Amino acid sequence: MQIDGVPAFQDNYLWVIAAGGRAAVVDPGDADPIEAFLAREGLELTAILATHHHGDHVGGLAELAAHWKCPVFGPAGERIAGLTQRLSEGERIEVPGIGASFEVLDVPGHTAGHIAYVHRGAAPLLFCGDTLFACGCGRLFEGTPEQMAASLAKLAALPRETRAFCAHEYTLSNIRFAEAVEPGNARLRSRKAHEAAKRAHNQPTVPMLIGEELDTNPFLRCTEPEVIASAERHAGRRLAGPVEVFAELRQWKNNF
Ligand SMILES: [Zn+2]
Repeated sequence: MQIDGVPAFQDNYLWVIAAGGRAAVVDPGDADPIEAFLAREGLELTAILATHHHGDHVGGLAELAAHWKCPVFGPAGERIAGLTQRLSEGERIEVPGIGASFEVLDVPGHTAGHIAYVHRGAAPLLFCGDTLFACGCGRLFEGTPEQMAASLAKLAALPRETRAFCAHEYTLSNIRFAEAVEPGNARLRSRKAHEAAKRAHNQPTVPMLIGEELDTNPFLRCTEPEVIASAERHAGRRLAGPVEVFAELRQWKNNF
């Protein structure tokens, strides 16, 4: 199984999972770059997977489905035209054509019905849309901090070696925020150096490893003393627990 990030728009990655000449695409916000990639690689599209309803994730869905006549998987709880299979927590799918199975997690917060796709096994994979980013997390457009914190906790519980494929290249700006929250985190400093080197060579920083996120992503570290202290300093008051710390960090990041 080979996974490629097809760049689109300003900073999106549209993920193509290919095996044996067939491919599935995750979150095709635009059909054109996907069609160009499939043509260049000689791939046949056999499935489309969507994580949530935002246009930069589903904008190319109808055109690709019409061309390739393939099934379209997506969240049961969102209105997305053209879905042929509506999924929610605990369901398992066999993605046609590529011989891979995925389990569905409900991860509300960025949007109300956002789902994530998890492939378990020797080389675990996560397609998390706009829920978890490298060193960051999605904005709360439709959900509460409680929901998003619970969604992130589900992703944080995956094996450390899980490769997580998020939908945007936000890593360096996320790391700048993480440093403001946790200036004492040495692993964050070394991560900054190696992610900056990748960007300097125009390489993606995604996928990221869940283990590295646990060590450096402040939104997954709301019980760490330095993270709590920084959030409380920013709030100007005591915070009552990890969800309040998370909510303060998210608010702080929105204006960072
Ligand atoms: Zn989104």
